[in-house]
Amino acid sequence: MSKLANEPDSAAHKKEAFRLLVKNTLERRLFYIPSFKIYGGVAGLYDYGPWGCAVETNLINLWRQHFVMEEDMFEIRCPCVTPEVVLKASGHVDKFTDLMVKDEVTGDCHRADHLLKNFLNDILAKDAKITAEKKKEILTDLASLDEFTGPELGAKIKAYNIKAPDTGNEVSEPYPFNLMFATTIGPTGLVPGYMRPETAQGIFVNFKDLYYENGNKLPFAAAQIGSAFRNEIAPRQGPMRVREFTLAEIEHFVNPYDKSHPKFKDVAHLEFFLFPRAEQTGLKDHVKTCIGDAVAKGIVDNETLGYFIARTYLFLTGIGINKEQLRFRQHLQNEMAHYAQDCWDAEIECSYGWFECVGLADRSAFDLKAHTSKSGVELVAHEVFDKPKDVEQLTIVPNKKILGKVFRKDQKILSESLESMTEAEALALKAELEEKEKTIYRVCTTGQEFELTKEMVTISQQVVKTHGRNFTPSVIEPSFGVGRIMYCLYEHCFYTRPYTPGEQVSSVFRFPPLIAPIKCTVFPLIQRKILNYKAELISNSLTRVGVSNKMDVTGRSIGKRYARTDEVGIPFAITVDFNEGVTVRERDSKQQIRVPDGEVVDVVRDLANGSRPWAEATSSYQVVLVPDAEAES
Ligand code: AMP
Repeated sequence: MSKLANEPDSAAHKKEAFRLLVKNTLERRLFYIPSFKIYGGVAGLYDYGPWGCAVETNLINLWRQHFVMEEDMFEIRCPCVTPEVVLKASGHVDKFTDLMVKDEVTGDCHRADHLLKNFLNDILAKDAKITAEKKKEILTDLASLDEFTGPELGAKIKAYNIKAPDTGNEVSEPYPFNLMFATTIGPTGLVPGYMRPETAQGIFVNFKDLYYENGNKLPFAAAQIGSAFRNEIAPRQGPMRVREFTLAEIEHFVNPYDKSHPKFKDVAHLEFFLFPRAEQTGLKDHVKTCIGDAVAKGIVDNETLGYFIARTYLFLTGIGINKEQLRFRQHLQNEMAHYAQDCWDAEIECSYGWFECVGLADRSAFDLKAHTSKSGVELVAHEVFDKPKDVEQLTIVPNKKILGKVFRKDQKILSESLESMTEAEALALKAELEEKEKTIYRVCTTGQEFELTKEMVTISQQVVKTHGRNFTPSVIEPSFGVGRIMYCLYEHCFYTRPYTPGEQVSSVFRFPPLIAPIKCTVFPLIQRKILNYKAELISNSLTRVGVSNKMDVTGRSIGKRYARTDEVGIPFAITVDFNEGVTVRERDSKQQIRVPDGEVVDVVRDLANGSRPWAEATSSYQVVLVPDAEAES
């Protein structure tokens, strides 16, 4: 807050003040708690308290229903500890890095792109006299942030003369820092492993068995929900950037030549904010677009990707994310991995700015090919042709007799390696042997080198009649950061209102009933045995029909008890008084209806599971007029 404290009306100041208000409520009411707080805490690690756990469970249950059940996906669960070979194959060991700079004096670490971003945003926020030309330059740099290479970022940091925050010291050149937590597996310390940085690899390595379980048919999808670990360089954005978080990921395997989706027509009419590459580089804003048009025009690469973008929009808005603060941003060309066909991030606006909360990527066949080549197990699908086709096929036949004579015991490993060459490798070897008669061949798994002559292997292309073909499926991956979605939801659902007229304010979370941590509180109006007894009966009956609820028999005034439950977003409160029936109060309108004893459990169950809207309940039951001050104080 310090830098902006003198500008109380600035947008940045208001955002910070709002964030502080939300944070205070979340931490005071134990939605989350900085981990190991009594020892001073650790940046980027948070505990979820009772309400946070309940919201996460509800969110995950809805996610399962919206994606896993709706699309008939396989859900699997794999270990967090992952052997190095898997993450070597996936590219994480070599490339899962962020660019870091160090304070040359203190050694403090900073993410290079964040340093530049914060510096540029600060100029835009504070420097009113900035020229139009300078502003354009800054906006262009901000739009290109995700594309800059290390040397490019280093050059920008120098050009803007950016120093380390807090100390003002020089910073080093940017260099890559691998975000994975390394470990070893077993007591010898000799088997390297990592805490998984995503859950996806567990699905890829199980592809063969899942495909078989699906009757050898495509498309199909598998999902996994679980912890992921990333040793973030400088996590300074509260629960939005943490070092351990829950991911909910889907890998949808599809024929690369047919990415149509049978249910795309059901969502094609939906309109929401898209932020395509051209808008970003043209320094324009996101635009409300019909997803059907975006796919038809090729802005979104294919129907399946478009389908998941639209389903993600429905999921996020359904749980309470404000649709005006949600957009889908396309990755810039160099931001995408070279193998990716198209990538979009669902970004949600919160007090930290626009933040990626879901990544949606068409990753082509990269992952399955990478694991096929490292493991030697073919992760492919099979297609049966309607009619047999003449296909040019490559055959590789090692001459085992000659190889055995020359290389003895190494014949086997050499033959296997030759047989598993890709088409491109085999054709290159054939060309070399034809030109030079001999060449040095390297077995990539062992590093051994052999001098091969023309007679040792026959590589030929023949036309053969085939009835089908093997191919590596493409994969479309929606990847949901559960914690980020939850935090944005907290901000989008939060509001304050006067608690007693003209006096204190109280805070409220406007959670939809399905997301609310628990659905209902049950209050005896005042402390009397008979009221407590009736309240207990209702509470037990609610529990029996699966409506989570809590009794509050503290002697606090009813108004204070309502305020405490509003503060954690509980949508309904039943109050037992001396009249016939009970009252049911709705959190946001503060309206109350009187419901007969025998009906209250069914009414609250239907309200809580969303099958009965509150407006409908108020037309079926008598609305009780309770003066605000009397009811809430
Ligand atoms: P990625 O694989 O980098 O696209 O990340 C997938 C999703 O994980 C993102 O869309 C985020 O929601 C979430 N995520 C990534 N890094 C973090 C982090 N450090 N803290 C919390 N969530 C994260």
